[in-house]
Amino acid sequence: MPLPRTEAMTEFTTARLIQMFNAIARAIEADKDRLSALDGAIGDADHGVTMDMGFAAVTQALAGLDPVTTEPTQVFNTAAKSFLNAVGASSGPLYATAFMRAGAAVKGRASLDRDAMVAATAAMAQGIQDRGKAEPGEKTMVDAWLPAAEALQAAAVEGQSLQACLRAAAKAAEQGAEATKAMLASKGRASRLGERVLGHMDPGAASAVVILDAMAASATA
Ligand SMILES: [Mg+2]
Repeated sequence: MPLPRTEAMTEFTTARLIQMFNAIARAIEADKDRLSALDGAIGDADHGVTMDMGFAAVTQALAGLDPVTTEPTQVFNTAAKSFLNAVGASSGPLYATAFMRAGAAVKGRASLDRDAMVAATAAMAQGIQDRGKAEPGEKTMVDAWLPAAEALQAAAVEGQSLQACLRAAAKAAEQGAEATKAMLASKGRASRLGERVLGHMDPGAASAVVILDAMAASATA
């Protein structure tokens, strides 16, 4: 007998959104060593560990929410608080801002359809850029998040499905992360290394790809 075709989901309920964060946490944990090694080449080698701590805390906090009575905005706000509590510096405030902005973008909604999910994801990217004050081309996670947001919104304008939009975002993030190898760093520790950072992918851009990949995978039922 043929396997049943997987039905494409059209919206994220609160339960789905919690599953999405759990999927991100699993993906980050699985890639923890690679992310820390990337950071080791141009920074302080802690990126995988800190991101794993952050998302493990998110998973734990979200497990305390009742998906039936909790709105998506509270899921994002809980994720923001728990991530920031676990990761006070560097990527902590960036992802906390991202999740707060996503929560604000979907306030009052009972579930997230394509346009709401696109708005939430684009708000994450904007939050990261605003909080980090990085411009594109500075070898940061912005170089993955901004092209992802642009591809996401372009796919939505074209009328593509929720999963196609998120897949377009993940693909653009991957290309953006790849492009950071050819960039010099003007932010953080890596900026002191000058041309020695050339050829190395920014770890924050790499983890953005992991996150967006997990989000896209979570949209496929
Ligand atoms: Mg680091």
